[in-house]
Amino acid sequence: MSKNELDKALELVDAEAKKIGISRREAFKLAGLGSAAYLMGGTSESQAATVAQASEAKGKILIIGGGLAGMSTAARLATTLTSPDITVIEPLSKSVSYQAGTTLVAGGIYEKSDILYNTKDFLPAGVKLIKDSAVEFNPDANKVVLGSGETLSYDFLVIAAGITLDFGKIKGLEEVGDAYTAGDSSKILKAFGDSGITSIYNTDTAEATWIQMQKFIQKAKNGEKVKGIFTHPSTAIKCGGAPKKIMNLTHSRLVEAGARDNAELRYYVNGSNMFGVKEYHDAILKQFEVRNLKWNYKHNLTAVDIKNKTAFFDKRWDEKGPYDEDLEEYSTITKHQEVEVPFDFMHITPPMKAPDVIAKSAVGSGKGWVPVNKETLQHVKYKNIFSLGDIAAVPMGKTGGSVRKQYKVLVDNLISAMEGKELTAKYGGYTVCPLITDIGKVMLAEFDWTKKPTPSFPLDPTEERYIWWLLKVYMLKPMTQYGMLSGKA
Ligand SMILES: Cc1cc2nc3c(=O)[nH]c(=O)nc-3n(C[C@H](O)[C@H](O)[C@H](O)COP(=O)(O)OP(=O)(O)OC[C@H]3O[C@@H](n4cnc5c(N)ncnc54)[C@H](O)[C@@H]3O)c2cc1C
Repeated sequence: MSKNELDKALELVDAEAKKIGISRREAFKLAGLGSAAYLMGGTSESQAATVAQASEAKGKILIIGGGLAGMSTAARLATTLTSPDITVIEPLSKSVSYQAGTTLVAGGIYEKSDILYNTKDFLPAGVKLIKDSAVEFNPDANKVVLGSGETLSYDFLVIAAGITLDFGKIKGLEEVGDAYTAGDSSKILKAFGDSGITSIYNTDTAEATWIQMQKFIQKAKNGEKVKGIFTHPSTAIKCGGAPKKIMNLTHSRLVEAGARDNAELRYYVNGSNMFGVKEYHDAILKQFEVRNLKWNYKHNLTAVDIKNKTAFFDKRWDEKGPYDEDLEEYSTITKHQEVEVPFDFMHITPPMKAPDVIAKSAVGSGKGWVPVNKETLQHVKYKNIFSLGDIAAVPMGKTGGSVRKQYKVLVDNLISAMEGKELTAKYGGYTVCPLITDIGKVMLAEFDWTKKPTPSFPLDPTEERYIWWLLKVYMLKPMTQYGMLSGKA
């Protein structure tokens, strides 16, 4: 981002903040973005960035995954420990830590180059990076085997290997198999081709989404009646709001082109609501109604016929079953039906899972995610192992916003463990989803394990606002990329 862009963004934030009677500093602080304010020069570092207490604790720390969670943790450990011995294992030479930016790439607001960077350029000073993957875990012997065959030993292990996109689970996309947000996308791009199928969950396919979206809009502009469909799978996903964001952006671009009336936009979600927090669910329904967006609950994408541009969903519903004499009530039978939906444009949110090498190892769990105490982030079985980010078995924790809270807790607790002290830092379940509802509008959905809105700002959190758009488009990227990856924000 150039200085001019930044100045312009800050001016806009100032103007918006003024309208609601607060200063820029207050706006950032109240929005829980104190560190962003620091990065923008709006406040002092001591006010904004939380700096951990220096520690002389010693120990060999191995971090699996050099994405947002792994690198932020490495950076904070490196600045906190007086004699750090930290190694990060990361297979990718190019990374994306502000993955929320892929939605903006797909909507034609960012370029891919705005979010993709050389992994090594963000390696904290004093941290060693090995370009490889962990392929085997032996937690009883404190050892990890790498793809190269090398075995590394550790005193403390941090698992931050993110999430795997399980495209291969969808019939018709088997050859794509597993994929990741950054990294090789050739199989996905080949499978999707020019079919109108897209996904913002990979950086390259996000770029292709913008091209496919424009073709879709052009058809509508030419007078064709077109149909765009957007899916949400049955598994946990990172950033549950993202499938709706790309639908909303498609709507905005169609309106901009004067072609909205020729397009039907429909959201197929496996669950039976729009959002796990009732207040945000209600707000989203209203937003959908205002924008004439359609939806179907309890529809899970199971297959695609790419050639014939048809999606297949497992539709389910409950019916009253036989009367149970013992329980004195009717049982419920879940019925299923395959539903065929033709499309011109389809956005797939793939099913997601923990990377197999970790899920199926001794440090994984039945469901794959690394089992940790949800507050301390310490492994439930191995006390010298910690985990955070998308791979950790933490409820509702699969967002960058959660990582921002988690990595500081993890570092405090890891250092306590190194010093032989009790773990006292606790993650409280905070997460945030800046839900793009239109170009220029975002609803800042903040919540925690109470499943109630937890706004950092004294304003109705269910309202769409321009100021949150400015934060999302201009502020959160530098805050993530420069603030978190330096262990400060
Ligand atoms: C489309 C989209 C929109 C999003 N929108 C938002 C949003 O608006 N707000 C928000 O807060 N969050 C959002 N997120 C989610 C957020 O980006 C993630 O939750 C966050 O990046 C998680 O960080 P992580 O470090 O756990 O995973 P990642 O950043 O994905 O890093 C994991 C790293 O582990 C590496 N790895 C994998 N396997 C191994 C192995 N075996 N050995 C070594 N390394 C390995 C990978 O290469 C990767 O670099 C969005 C994500 C996407 C894709």
